[in-house]
Amino acid sequence: MILVSACLAGVKTRYDGESRDNTAVMRLIAERKAMPLCPEVLGGRGIPREPVEIVGGDGEDVLDGTAKVLDKNGKDYTSEILDGVNEFIRALKRFNADTVILKSKSPTCGMGKIYDGTFKGNLVDGDGVLTAALKREGIRLYNENNCDIIFPDMKAK
Ligand code: SF4
Repeated sequence: MILVSACLAGVKTRYDGESRDNTAVMRLIAERKAMPLCPEVLGGRGIPREPVEIVGGDGEDVLDGTAKVLDKNGKDYTSEILDGVNEFIRALKRFNADTVILKSKSPTCGMGKIYDGTFKGNLVDGDGVLTAALKREGIRLYNENNCDIIFPDMKAK
């Protein structure tokens, strides 16, 4: 079983109430090879919701307690994000999933690049909180830009 960021699978879980449909991911769902989950919704955040960014570091730093996940007004959502990450990992273990496809740039699901915490659209190197936690669990990770590697006939669009 593969778990995927829900917004890539056509589920409208993004902060703005939209999805980011990805052809390869949606085909995996249709073929019952993958299951969509949104860690932010699992953590109790609603749809729509205030967008958040990691302030003071990256997902690793949030896990280590040295950075926070805030909205642009400084409201702290770190605890909700960590709750959602823990729920996601519980589901991963329950379904014996060993692979996750993540939505890039998100403060939770982002892999390799995330926004810098200034809410000005600047990207920096780093992982989101879920991605950092999944790396610690040794899970195989892809994002929507390279997930067609898993099944070469599924070109991501
Ligand atoms: Fe949810 Fe992750 Fe998609 Fe954000 S990127 S809407 S946290 S699944």
